[in-house]
Amino acid sequence: MSKFWSPMAKRATTYVPGEQLNKPNILKLNTNENPYGPSPKVLAAIQKANDDDLRLYPSPTVEHLKEVIANRHGVKANNVFVGNGSDDVLAMAFMAFFDSENTIRFPEITYSFYPVYANLFNIPNEQISLNEDFTIQPEDFYNSDGGVIFANPNAPTSLYLPIEAVESIVKNNPDSVVIVDEAYIDFASTSAVSLIEKYDNLLVIQTMSKSHSLAGLRVGLAIGNEELIEGLIRIKDSFNPYPIDRLAIAGATASFEDENYFQDVTSKIIKTREWTTKSLKEIGFHVLPSATNFLFISHTEASAKDIYEQLREKDILIRYFDAEKIDNHLRISIGTQEEMEKFVEEMVLILNN
Ligand SMILES: *Cc1c(COP(=O)(O)O)cnc(C)c1O
Repeated sequence: MSKFWSPMAKRATTYVPGEQLNKPNILKLNTNENPYGPSPKVLAAIQKANDDDLRLYPSPTVEHLKEVIANRHGVKANNVFVGNGSDDVLAMAFMAFFDSENTIRFPEITYSFYPVYANLFNIPNEQISLNEDFTIQPEDFYNSDGGVIFANPNAPTSLYLPIEAVESIVKNNPDSVVIVDEAYIDFASTSAVSLIEKYDNLLVIQTMSKSHSLAGLRVGLAIGNEELIEGLIRIKDSFNPYPIDRLAIAGATASFEDENYFQDVTSKIIKTREWTTKSLKEIGFHVLPSATNFLFISHTEASAKDIYEQLREKDILIRYFDAEKIDNHLRISIGTQEEMEKFVEEMVLILNN
């Protein structure tokens, strides 16, 4: 703690991301990255953009990329906002739609960036308990003073809340903004984007980090009513008008334009997810029905922490959260089929030990 720090810097609680170990041959199943690389067309587009034009600022409005995203989602370009990863978009959304006078709500078990931002921006918050089975009780989020934010599918639980329930939350908060963080929606089913025409208080946030294999490029987006998007732009333009660089614009555009590659990778991951779920159940794990590219699991006889530590010794990284209510669970990102076969093999050895 330094006397030079602002109150904001002093109260910051900082988000702790999963480890990025730089070791060869590590099996990395801890940060929900895509095991497959981005489309070759994405790499070619980035290479093409890597030229003298880098001396020029990128487009502050990213019009073309917005058009491409709007087309894909069947909305208009002025319903789309683009930021430097969805964490950046989330920060802007907290600043644009939440305030220190009104209490926001989010699930008690969810993406751990929400409490970090709420604290940083001094936003009072109520953390709502989940049901015993980790499902969300929609009614608990109705008529929230300051707004609502939740991830759907939720992390780290991997559970998808049906679109009717999402709609009921949006509908029952007509005077505040409901943010739905759809980081994993491409591995699930219906997106809440289908509801933005109908509700002016709904903001849907998505990312290219997971399903588009572009965590390293840092591109996230928000889709919502034009006035909400304008609110985000006001914050962005008062803060950093050029959050997306030229290489990211080129890569992101190419990725949205290569729908076939994207579909192919996504369905491979879903197939491997189903295989891994079945295999882990066969060796006694409880596996939540995942609608994401990761699994949330527990075992009645083996301790989650022990398993995590034993896997780590074998250079297999998964995620363990030392937090109340989930400290006997493990989160496992879905790798390639080959990687998951190796993972299950090691799990069998650990359990038989
Ligand atoms: C990964 C993740 C994000 C952050 O994604 P970036 O676009 O890489 O910043 C946001 N929300 C949830 C729920 C996530 O799992």
